[in-house]
Amino acid sequence: MTSTGSPPREVDCVIVGGGAAGLSAAVNMGRMRRSVLLIDERDRFVWKHVAHNYLGFPDGVPAVEIRRLGWRQAAKYGAQLLLGHVATAARDGDLFRFRVERLPEGGAWANRPGPIVPRDAEMAQIFGEVPDGGPIEVIARSVILATGVFGHFPEFPGRDQCVGRSLFWCIHCDGYESIDRVVAVVGHDEEAISTALDLLDFTDRVTIVAGRAEGFDVPSSRLADLAEAGISAFPCGVSEYQNSDGQMQALVLDDPARTRLAVEQVYTVRRSKAANDLARQLGLDLNPIGQIVVTSEQHTNVPGAYAAGDATSLHDHQLSAAVHEGNQAACAANYHLYRAVQRAPGD
Ligand SMILES: Cc1cc2nc3c(=O)[nH]c(=O)nc-3n(C[C@H](O)[C@H](O)[C@H](O)COP(=O)(O)OP(=O)(O)OC[C@H]3O[C@@H](n4cnc5c(N)ncnc54)[C@H](O)[C@@H]3O)c2cc1C
Repeated sequence: MTSTGSPPREVDCVIVGGGAAGLSAAVNMGRMRRSVLLIDERDRFVWKHVAHNYLGFPDGVPAVEIRRLGWRQAAKYGAQLLLGHVATAARDGDLFRFRVERLPEGGAWANRPGPIVPRDAEMAQIFGEVPDGGPIEVIARSVILATGVFGHFPEFPGRDQCVGRSLFWCIHCDGYESIDRVVAVVGHDEEAISTALDLLDFTDRVTIVAGRAEGFDVPSSRLADLAEAGISAFPCGVSEYQNSDGQMQALVLDDPARTRLAVEQVYTVRRSKAANDLARQLGLDLNPIGQIVVTSEQHTNVPGAYAAGDATSLHDHQLSAAVHEGNQAACAANYHLYRAVQRAPGD
């Protein structure tokens, strides 16, 4: 790894990712009195959505607010929070070495929302930032990767305001918000077909649009299932997502008639991909779709390296699972840091 000139920071645990999983890990590592550095690129989790199924918030809680509460809690227990991009990770004997860079202009993620969390006084007070002087090097005795996933959302003007308000992909998260609404699903594969059929548990006003000129890519029997369920299917693309102030209004279809479907909500297929660059660099096992393989205690195949949250294959991708996995990863990393005398004989 290239030297950065300044002496490396040394900590008990580096946590990469400051979403629900990383922040939960930071709170718990801090409470176990470990020195923790959490590094986050800041800008992906923070779509303007409100989680309605997260326990303890009967009126729902904005994703941004969960993050903000998490910063406060982690900082209270001594975790250091750093804004930056972890560009490289390497094993060095029993240690882990990281190179952390300044965020590229506009953030490092493709297909992400704009910077929705403003750089306000609280953030400035809690977060350090990789300085202008160049990247920094960090050495840690353990690492927790909580890097989340890349999701794909259609690109259209007003998209960022619609995500989580009238543009969804997860029935488990948001189906309840679709009760008796006029909903269109955009997608050409089995995932889209089952989403449309599952939505009938919430509303009988469901339409599906393939979202591409080639039409649907499912057996004709599935199109028959849609017809039998009363779901109209349009085998064409979408040329316009009409919306205003976060509210979907209509889809203009890419068919000869330029059909305009009035809608209140749209579901798309997100095709999440685990953010696994650093996991690959550390030699962690990945499953066939690139998620980090972990045990139920968040161990990876590399001693001292743990993973939590959406980046793993363990649970459904939900806030509650991310918080649980972050907590578990902290317990496992803390155990890894125990002195020999603290371990059960033979462990
Ligand atoms: C629009 C939307 C609506 C949702 N609604 C709900 C809901 O209603 N209920 C629910 O339970 N769940 C919901 N979810 C899912 C929930 O948000 C996720 O399951 C949860 O955020 C996962 O947490 P995480 O910490 O694993 O990943 P994330 O929250 O994605 O955090 C990962 C973090 O890691 C950072 N990162 C990655 N790589 C690097 C790197 N190399 N260097 C520095 N930082 C890095 C990213 O910038 C990001 O901040 C929703 C998700 C979205 C996107």
